[in-house]
Amino acid sequence: MRYSEMFLPTGREVPSDAEVISHQLMIRAGMIRKLISGIYSYLPLGYRVIRKLEQIIREEMNKAGAQEVHLPMVQPAELWQESGRWVHYGKELLRFRDRHDHEYCLGPTHEEVITSLVRNDVKTYRQLPRNLYQIQTKFRDEVRPRFGVMRCREFGMKDAYSFDVDEESAGKSYEKMFTAYNNIFNRCGLKFRPVEADSGSIGGKYSHEFMVMAESGEDAMVFCEKCSYAANLEKAEVACPEKKIIYEYDFLPLEEVHTPDVRTIEEVSAFLKVMPQDIVKTLIFNADGQPCAVLIRGDQEVNEIKVKNYLGATELELASDEMILKATGAPRGFAGPVNIEVRVIIDYSVIDMVNFVTGANKENYHFKNVNIGRDFNIEAFADLRIVEPTDNCPRCEGNTQFVRGIEVGHVFKLGTKYSKAMKAEYLDKDGQEKIMIMGCYGIGIGRTVAAAIEQNYDENGIVWPMPLAPYHVIITPVNINEKDIMKAAENLYNSMLAEGIEVIFDDRDERAGVKFKDADLIGIPLRIIIGQKNLLQGNVELKIRKTGENKLYSLQEIVQQVKQVIAQEVNSTIAVS
Ligand code: ATP
Ligand code: MG
Repeated sequence: MRYSEMFLPTGREVPSDAEVISHQLMIRAGMIRKLISGIYSYLPLGYRVIRKLEQIIREEMNKAGAQEVHLPMVQPAELWQESGRWVHYGKELLRFRDRHDHEYCLGPTHEEVITSLVRNDVKTYRQLPRNLYQIQTKFRDEVRPRFGVMRCREFGMKDAYSFDVDEESAGKSYEKMFTAYNNIFNRCGLKFRPVEADSGSIGGKYSHEFMVMAESGEDAMVFCEKCSYAANLEKAEVACPEKKIIYEYDFLPLEEVHTPDVRTIEEVSAFLKVMPQDIVKTLIFNADGQPCAVLIRGDQEVNEIKVKNYLGATELELASDEMILKATGAPRGFAGPVNIEVRVIIDYSVIDMVNFVTGANKENYHFKNVNIGRDFNIEAFADLRIVEPTDNCPRCEGNTQFVRGIEVGHVFKLGTKYSKAMKAEYLDKDGQEKIMIMGCYGIGIGRTVAAAIEQNYDENGIVWPMPLAPYHVIITPVNINEKDIMKAAENLYNSMLAEGIEVIFDDRDERAGVKFKDADLIGIPLRIIIGQKNLLQGNVELKIRKTGENKLYSLQEIVQQVKQVIAQEVNSTIAVS
């Protein structure tokens, strides 16, 4: 394409609302423009990258045996009522009514629609397994849209859904998608890792997130340095410590102490001159409307997802002052497990503690020398806290490492969550009615593109990995007023087009410096500079965006040379599966 004809509005200004580099560069490189909060338009350059990614995804999905469909974005409330999510999905679900007063939502995900489709058309085991996917727009009314297309409200997603006759077969479908995802992100040239993850509101039993490594990532991951264990911080397990034998004769007498206006762990620690490790923190949560006390060592943090999963709760939040007062008889800051009427659950970190400090469920009082068994009873110890860098691997006790990343894909084993609620059944070999076993698999399209930029940029702009680059080559004549230069540039441009090379011809009447700056900013992997001096020798300069390396080639050899580099780089990222 001729640059002079392109709709490619680049800019030098860093947009004030763009916190992360990918957001800044996507705006500056003329890839996207914001319409309203969390809603973006893709301009031609940005959309080409999207299509490159979609193409890789399609190839790998098709190779894995999935078939492409296209489902509606507008979905009737009835389907969501059947699955139970109309009530549970919360405010991210954008709901509206039509002129007949029927209720609908904009699809944030498509489990309901696909399940209703499959249950109507798949009747027997002979029609299974099936894996259907689409690349389509989703709408999620995120509380805080941010980071450009990385966390927005309207975004493209590849979502796939598998239907199987039993767990074993469903496991195979999951494995296939797991492999396909590895291939996709490898082909994009990304540094990533699949990690164990929580299933969130989509539900299901088992899931992996695909994380692209990036300092700016919203997610934290834990890796084991010894074995293959890797998990999202939300999900990362803490191994149950071996319980030491505690003798009751070590228990000191329970003591109520006056602690006026002393509430937080820091305040209690300073006031009573004890270490935070000697205090047990009691947090009151509101789990589906019921208060519940969670006990944890004073220097540790509660992982709300673990608490939610342990309780099997749909909604979990810290209790309001009012609920705390009602549950404990005291205002916030004085809760404890002794003489409390609500359910108490207790983290592993408390397992070996004796003679600890807790709130006394009485304003301005704490207890000293509290002991499990003597002063209060518990149902069980559980893993309820956030892992820390000092925690060892829950599988092999190896050292762990914390890294930040961006979740670009997510694969779930759904089991029968939707198929049971929505009656997606089939007749097995013996004519018995059985429930289908499902899986679902998503990739954020825009988010993956943004993540690729987070991994591939320098101070001058984007450095596209070849497989995602909007164009592979940019031809830069340094002066368009020199006839020889322009003639050589035109010829080269035409030969490259004829060879099917994706090329931009910077035919603008701009200074060379401006052209170089734009080419760097938009991140085209290969630049061919045509200048008077080299041209006199019949040469042009090939500059590699990523390494800055440059070399002269004759006009005769340059096209083949470029073709070779492109082929090498596109192929070198294809994973062997
Ligand atoms: P997150 O925890 O980041 O909100 P999620 O767990 O809600 O993500 P899924 O429901 O698993 O996401 O959706 C599949 C994929 O869609 C994600 O892996 C991500 O790449 C993408 N995605 C999800 N929410 C957004 C969003 N608000 N903007 C852009 N992409 C998104
Ligand atoms: Mg989300």
